[in-house]
Amino acid sequence: MVKIKGRSKPIFIGGAGVALLMLWTFSPFPSFPTRLDVSHVVAKTTVSPENDGAAAAVPDCPPVDDQGVSLGQDPAGQTFYDDPTLSYTIGNPVKNWDEKRREWLKRHPSFAAGAENRVFVLTASQPWPCKNPTGDNLLLRLFKNKVDYCRIHGYDIFYNNALFHPEMKNYWAKIPVVRATMVAHPEAEWIFWIDSDAIFADMDFTPPLERYKDHNLVVDGWPNLIYEKKSWVGLNAGVFFIRNCQWSMDFLEVWAEMGPQTPNYEKWGKILTSTMSDKMYTLSDDQSALIYLLLKEKEKWGNKIYIENQYTLSGYWGGIVDSLEKISDNYARLEKRVTKLRRRHAEKVSEHFAAETREAFASQGGDGGGGKRPFVVHFTGCQPCSGEHPGFTDEACWNGMEKALNFADNQVLRNYGFVRPNLLNTSSVCPLPFGSASYTKEK
Ligand code: MN
Repeated sequence: MVKIKGRSKPIFIGGAGVALLMLWTFSPFPSFPTRLDVSHVVAKTTVSPENDGAAAAVPDCPPVDDQGVSLGQDPAGQTFYDDPTLSYTIGNPVKNWDEKRREWLKRHPSFAAGAENRVFVLTASQPWPCKNPTGDNLLLRLFKNKVDYCRIHGYDIFYNNALFHPEMKNYWAKIPVVRATMVAHPEAEWIFWIDSDAIFADMDFTPPLERYKDHNLVVDGWPNLIYEKKSWVGLNAGVFFIRNCQWSMDFLEVWAEMGPQTPNYEKWGKILTSTMSDKMYTLSDDQSALIYLLLKEKEKWGNKIYIENQYTLSGYWGGIVDSLEKISDNYARLEKRVTKLRRRHAEKVSEHFAAETREAFASQGGDGGGGKRPFVVHFTGCQPCSGEHPGFTDEACWNGMEKALNFADNQVLRNYGFVRPNLLNTSSVCPLPFGSASYTKEK
């Protein structure tokens, strides 16, 4: 992500300067001067803060938004978008995607800065209304949680409500959406898919992308459950990072070959069920399909797939929701001990306070018995929209979701001066007095 203001200013200026050059080379925009004195622009824009006013006054700078990228410019000259054979759909992989992306970034230099770590968040739900009477409200709040997380960290997000392949429904629907998003967002290095029934429960946490520099797909899972037990729940395919690159373009095709849009769907159902040690139903599903590829084509794909279990990339809700109050208490104790964590601040500087909290947690032995916040809590099996949750009670699913949503929202609300003292009471909030810890139940 290209960060705003102080930190990124030199990058933005460099980018804008290059962008001007590119515009001059490729585009005869009538509003631009016929002769661009670049040295003048550079001289005015790479100087000390007191010259900021002068730089802003340069009339022919391309518009730049507050993240230092040019949203209003698309230089003339052909890119992959002008190729009539290019497709956004599964079944028609783009070739030479890495080169095409690179070329696009070269022509859009304001997006090139920071591109190597740019995350684009993607989630979706069905186009039709929910059967569960509270389903649409839950989906709205589940989406709000994702929007909050993205706003705090400066990530873009797309919420899809259409089926991009009419036969790829339910858990298969994400593959065509990821595929299309790769083409729609060449500026993004990582597509971060998160199911609608998953909640960001730690608003501070950002994924350790440097850990994945040699990998293209990151999923939550356990290698022994995958490779030894051949368990279909050895990983979770509902939350993952996938790199926007040719490997992923090809991998999505192979993954999708086991889907309901193919004539082999039934055959795959049988193969997957007989390969997995614990798969109870015979329909081919995306998660078993992914594990199957790890088991059978490990050499081809496995070395680029990172199985993450050092933090909760997709935490199973059943084992988490009962501990959320204790975790809140734990952070409240930490905030009581470390005054600077209680300091009021603008939401925009949340990442600074996230780092302070992380540091305090480590140095103070933050674990006073409650543990750390999980990054993502995933309500697998609860199905908020259909309301069907075989094996779980209404109370377990809906109270659990309520708690997790409010647990996450309390971290957002504190920057707006409020807190929900009771995680099961969504409508009641209290103002947060000056200097107090975010969780006020004990007062
Ligand atoms: Mn899910």
